[in-house]
Amino acid sequence: MIETLGEAWSAGWRLKVACAWGTRDGLKSVRECGRRHDVDLETLIWTRGRDFPLSLLQERLRCPTCGSRRVRVGFVVPDNPAEAAVRSVGSARRGA
Ligand SMILES: [Zn+2]
Repeated sequence: MIETLGEAWSAGWRLKVACAWGTRDGLKSVRECGRRHDVDLETLIWTRGRDFPLSLLQERLRCPTCGSRRVRVGFVVPDNPAEAAVRSVGSARRGA
């Protein structure tokens, strides 16, 4: 179970964040922001420390473009994309 920045970094995870400022704010219609960023985990560890819990990350982030605190946090676990790539190569060969 990976729960801290240090553990995620050691496991080779990558961190992606996206501004979740949507098209609606209550009843008002607002402009969508949609800013995305690939966060460097090592930089985050230099500033927050290895023991910083992943669960607290979301509430500490803020979009630099619109200033929204509605930020989605996603981790890319290295094993999964690799497996998916291998599988799609396999099925392409079968098709040819
Ligand atoms: Zn934004």
